[in-house]
Amino acid sequence: MKVVKFGGSSLADANQIRKVCDIVLSDRERRIVVVSAPGKRFDSDIKVTDMLIELASKKLNNEDYAETLENIVDRYRQIAIGLGLGEDAVEFVKQDLTDRLNSNVDSDAKFIDLMKAAGEDNTAKLVAKYFNFIGEKAVYMNPKDAGMLLSNDYGNARVLKKTYDNLAKLRDMEELVIFPGFFGYSEDGEVVTFSRGGSDVTGSVIAAAVNATVYENFTDVDYVFCANPKVIKDPKPISYFTYEEMRELSYAGFNVLHEETLEPVYRKKIAVNIRNTNNPQSPGTMIVPAERAERVSGENPVVGIAADKGFITVHVEKYMMNREIGFGRRLLTIFEKEGVSYEHAPSGIDSISVIVKERNCPKDKLERITDAIRKELEVDDVVVEHGLAIIMLVGRGMSRTVGIASRATSAIARANVNIRMINQGSSEVSIMFGVHEDDVEKSLIALYDEFFR
Ligand code: ASP
Repeated sequence: MKVVKFGGSSLADANQIRKVCDIVLSDRERRIVVVSAPGKRFDSDIKVTDMLIELASKKLNNEDYAETLENIVDRYRQIAIGLGLGEDAVEFVKQDLTDRLNSNVDSDAKFIDLMKAAGEDNTAKLVAKYFNFIGEKAVYMNPKDAGMLLSNDYGNARVLKKTYDNLAKLRDMEELVIFPGFFGYSEDGEVVTFSRGGSDVTGSVIAAAVNATVYENFTDVDYVFCANPKVIKDPKPISYFTYEEMRELSYAGFNVLHEETLEPVYRKKIAVNIRNTNNPQSPGTMIVPAERAERVSGENPVVGIAADKGFITVHVEKYMMNREIGFGRRLLTIFEKEGVSYEHAPSGIDSISVIVKERNCPKDKLERITDAIRKELEVDDVVVEHGLAIIMLVGRGMSRTVGIASRATSAIARANVNIRMINQGSSEVSIMFGVHEDDVEKSLIALYDEFFR
């Protein structure tokens, strides 16, 4: 059995939804369909989820929200008309949104999640209706009835363990199951959403729970490319790579899947196939367990190059640091106390740099952290540098190939870029370079030319 998830652009209008249904029906193993909320139909369009957030905030600020509400209902109305269901088919959407707006929840965070979840929920209902309309046995599955239990971290929920057992019974459903992505319920019965883009996670959790043969994730690209097409013209497509490689690439800015998508399927070794709703003939990109990704010798050891900006380096120096037991732990505890997670911590004998994401470490926290480092660790120097970018060269084969680091550093040097930091992940799936943000594009082009042209 296959679990198949469609992203917002695949549900943006009636035409797209017809493609979705054709894809589902063309393979009878596709038994569970996870849907996002309607996304953008054109560049300047607004996603339904963003419209719902606007609606929620207008209601919370006591502003007039009638027009926003009508615009949302109208998105569904156009879809229903386009599918031939008639406009009465969306009466339930209007009613649902009105009920949500009038519900009595006791915090803003709960209310916002309740509103956000309406996008996927109503889409799933409408898609199920359309399947029935064309004579297919399909049911909308309410995540509450299915047992999609999440932690009560509103807007950033985690999956609770028992969810997997609860969802396993979806395997026995005779009808096609249409499951709304992005949200579930807390143990208290409140609607909770994942962070943005979280329908990917819903699909992955269900695929793991029912032990699917594959998790197909339909979006609007034929493949995952080995570098960002906004920087590199016509980058090479990747036909398959491993979870670990994908994880490293997503970490450094590949936005193909939600960051938490791979964890559930990784544990069950279920392959993920990224495909294009607008070109279902294309086989897409497969993400597979390492043992299924044996590469032929002579193949390019580098599978992808990614880059992300917005890092800060906190560089700490202390003479004889390597002899001081517990220094690293005490240093990282200072970050922990401020709730800042560290990304990397390359070190020398008398120095260590802690690299954090700028967005996780606002100015006030950073000041408290550097003060504490000075006072509690009696260091010789603490220097903070902003504007660091991270470039990841990713590929499992690199660990067995001589000379990759040298080729990479020479390429970056030819682009006249100063490398501020090098770190080879202990897994040897990636080599990381830190460069100044202004040098990212140049470095990416140089690395792409070296390894892919
Ligand atoms: N609709 C939600 C969002 O825009 C979730 C998703 O599409 O995955 O973030």
